[in-house]
Amino acid sequence: MVRPSLRVAKTRMKRTPSETKLTRIEKRTKKPHCSKCGAILHGVAFGRQNRVRKMSRSERLPSRVHAGYLCTRCLKGAIKAEVRS
Ligand SMILES: [Zn+2]
Repeated sequence: MVRPSLRVAKTRMKRTPSETKLTRIEKRTKKPHCSKCGAILHGVAFGRQNRVRKMSRSERLPSRVHAGYLCTRCLKGAIKAEVRS
């Protein structure tokens, strides 16, 4: 039996002069969000894992602490709180 995640793959008929093809529609994924405030994270790759995995490491995430988890504004506050404590 097909894996449950593959059962819902949507398809669309595409007509060409010679034939009618059944094309698979790619699932849409949400943009990554900040874990503290919920803002959209910039510079973080998203989409199907087979596409993201092919990217280089520097293309996937910014090279700083908490990249991919916190936005810059929340990170600024977190660093300040850490230094003051
Ligand atoms: Zn945030």
